[in-house]
Amino acid sequence: MVIVMAKGATGENIAAVSRLLEHHSLKAHISQGSETTIIGVVGDKKRLADVNLEMLPGVEKVIPIMESYKLASKAFNPQGIVVNIDGAKIGGGHFAMMAGPCAVESEEQIVSTALAVKQSGAQFLRGGAYKPRTSPYAFQGMEDEGYRLMRLAGDEAGLKVVSEIISENNIETAAKYCDMFQVGARNMQNFRLLRELGRSKMPILLKRGNSSTISEWLDAAEYIMSEGNYNVVLCERGIRTFETATRNTLDISAIAVIKEKSSLPIIIDPSHAAGKASYIESLSLAAVAGGADGLIIEVHPDPMSAMSDAAQQLNFAVFDNLSTKVKKLVTVLDKQM
Ligand code: PEP
Ligand code: MN
Repeated sequence: MVIVMAKGATGENIAAVSRLLEHHSLKAHISQGSETTIIGVVGDKKRLADVNLEMLPGVEKVIPIMESYKLASKAFNPQGIVVNIDGAKIGGGHFAMMAGPCAVESEEQIVSTALAVKQSGAQFLRGGAYKPRTSPYAFQGMEDEGYRLMRLAGDEAGLKVVSEIISENNIETAAKYCDMFQVGARNMQNFRLLRELGRSKMPILLKRGNSSTISEWLDAAEYIMSEGNYNVVLCERGIRTFETATRNTLDISAIAVIKEKSSLPIIIDPSHAAGKASYIESLSLAAVAGGADGLIIEVHPDPMSAMSDAAQQLNFAVFDNLSTKVKKLVTVLDKQM
């Protein structure tokens, strides 16, 4: 449930509600809007069976939340969450462009890509250091050296760095080099990892599992948020369907559903959805028009020689052309990129 405080509620009114919840072994998560304060209640509601919260001073109303996720729900944060990564904002009219190779392969590869995507208007450099691959024989990434090169390239180009984290044991090291962690589709339900990332307070890009429902995806976000980390950005990257013409099926409907059900920003990864470079532009423009808060696109200096995901990566010129179109559309929609 969420407790909506009246407009004139005092700090003491809010503190009294929090104390009462704690007394009943429930957690209070406070969301401070411009006019009203909303208190999200997490824990076993049955503990409040004999308490009439609406009688407390300063409480306007109590709204039950039927969904299993609470903090990720629209009701808890009706004004929407804007994730701010050292000044680079995502959500609330701020559109983020993330671009870079599937995997970091060398210093030259990542630095040249960083400079090119920055020139085309990206704010974030993507690139995998740890690659969770379907086959154990496929390239697994440069690991910690990859993180170091991401930071080097990001700093050289003036880009924020986003890279995948695959183990809770590596958070401290990875946090030295990254501005945002990606949780990949294969780890969306790695609950121990999600909890630890919640405790870390690092901004998280949470990809949707390729066979996960939107509700399961929001439950995964809730794991991170329930530990006090609200810096979560959702990423739709295609789901598994009967269709084989594309690598996955981009669930464009997810944008509308998330906008209605959740306060979290959502970005789209057309690269892993399509699996093919020639489909990226169409999916990207559809995502922007459909209200996405950003895009994450794979870009490589020489896609055909890439050590992973060669077929779907864009070269610099194609990305630049796409980025120009995205910028125009973003402007038409009164957003900032
Ligand atoms: C990636 O972004 O490189 C990646 C592996 O994505 P996903 O987890 O969506 O497959
Ligand atoms: Mn990839």
